[in-house]
Amino acid sequence: MATAALTANQTPGLVCAHHHLYSALARGMPTPPRTPTGFTEILELVWWRLDRALDDQSIRWSAMLGAVEALERGCTAIIDHHESPNAIDGSLSIIAEACAEVGVRVSCAYGITDRHGADGARRGLAENERFLQEGGRGMVGVHAGFTCSDESLEAAAGLAADRGVGVHVHVAEGPVDAGAADRLRHLATDDWLLVHGVHLPDDHGLAGTIVHNARSNMNNAVGYARPIRFANPVALGSDGIGADMLDEFRVAYARHREDDVTASPEVAWGWLATGWDLFPEAVADRVTWTYTDMDPWRLAFTTNVGPRTVEVDGRVVLADGRPTLVDADEVRARAAEEAARLHYRLEDG
Ligand SMILES: [Zn+2]
Repeated sequence: MATAALTANQTPGLVCAHHHLYSALARGMPTPPRTPTGFTEILELVWWRLDRALDDQSIRWSAMLGAVEALERGCTAIIDHHESPNAIDGSLSIIAEACAEVGVRVSCAYGITDRHGADGARRGLAENERFLQEGGRGMVGVHAGFTCSDESLEAAAGLAADRGVGVHVHVAEGPVDAGAADRLRHLATDDWLLVHGVHLPDDHGLAGTIVHNARSNMNNAVGYARPIRFANPVALGSDGIGADMLDEFRVAYARHREDDVTASPEVAWGWLATGWDLFPEAVADRVTWTYTDMDPWRLAFTTNVGPRTVEVDGRVVLADGRPTLVDADEVRARAAEEAARLHYRLEDG
């Protein structure tokens, strides 16, 4: 585990090990035709409606807004998982460029799936390949085992091995994907990101880092992953609910503590620190916080800590709590316009 030194009011840049920047414009979206009653219906009635409506402009402005929101909370490195079935080609470059404009590091992946036919999976895989071939920082994305054929899973694993990167895949988030381990065990390697793992058996036998998304799991009522039961390294993600990683740490600690009253916040802090193994560049980033005791026991119970200054790659990208490379007010205004257009398309569809 990376042990980047904590000084009194400074840390390295925080890492969000699983994000969906495309969800930044989801807030305020039209309510689904009926209230989803479980994980699968949440996907069908909310997220798969949203991702079908994304176009290049909504991808761009959701990434701009998501990157600004990450920076404003001291997160300098995002491991993103993207899906936009009607705007696949070039989508990863749009996200990478938006993050670069804001000054936030990003690792991109396109989550391939067969739920729009084998051609959709092929085009998703081609987008991963194009992006990586052109030198983009990324992984090969897979939505999840339960929406992919064995051929698609093998093709994704093969591309990742060829490019020397891991696969970024949702694993056993809900009961519908409980069989994921048997589908993936012969493919997974240590550089894979296994997101959620809620319904994995303790001895699942998958290589890779488990990414725990405590708040998202609660929101989807899929159960508690109880990450301490796994032999794998564990990292923390937001699953698209912003990138306030101190907050994700607090929720992960509270969930751990709910399960075990002897739990120490140092465990959840260790999960947060695993992000630096996944995105080592962020270790050199410097966040100066408004709080002078950046210690897990204090931070677990201190809810109003924010960054004052953020340096990425030696450049000040946030000063006095405000992004320096972009006008955050303008990004919010443009993102709101784009959100209105996106929500209109959702009403229409
Ligand atoms: Zn996710």
